[in-house]
Amino acid sequence: AKPVVAIVGRPNVGKSTFFNRIAGKRISIVEDTPGVTRDRIYADAEWLNHKFTLIDTGGMEPDSKDIILSQMRNQVYMALDTADVILFIVDGRTGLVAQDEEVANILRRTGKPVILVVNKVDNRDLPDSFYDFYQLGMGEPFAISSTNALGLGDLLDEAVANF
Ligand code: GDP
Ligand code: MG
Repeated sequence: AKPVVAIVGRPNVGKSTFFNRIAGKRISIVEDTPGVTRDRIYADAEWLNHKFTLIDTGGMEPDSKDIILSQMRNQVYMALDTADVILFIVDGRTGLVAQDEEVANILRRTGKPVILVVNKVDNRDLPDSFYDFYQLGMGEPFAISSTNALGLGDLLDEAVANF
């Protein structure tokens, strides 16, 4: 089976934008039944002759009381379960927030390789907030811009290196 790369993170950090950027046009996208697994989406993707399946997730609810139970719904757990590599997306514009810590704690428990991705770094200058993300204990973050297509090559190099 092809390696699976799962995209996770709190809402609005740019997961789906990243997914669409990587999936590109040659990709077949299958959306699950609306309302059942919300917007989990699979795509076949390829980087430097490495084929893999990319999974977008959207199940981390922003406004629920029990963060652990509600944010990481079944679909996210399923994505984590099948994942060989996890891309943990955070928002370089908002900076580090408590929800990121919650997500980090859950991802740590998977024991799987997690790559920390600071999205919305839209130019070559790293925002001051970038360095706060080291506190997540996920190693060196990769700065990318999904909208401006910056930093994606280095990130994908790292992802396929974990297959
Ligand atoms: P998701 O909830 O994590 O899937 O986030 P979305 O992909 O829906 O994006 C949330 C918002 O962030 C949208 O308005 C996007 O246009 C914006 N966004 C996503 N990636 C970037 C980026 O690299 N730079 C900037 N400036 N905005 C972005
Ligand atoms: Mg989304």
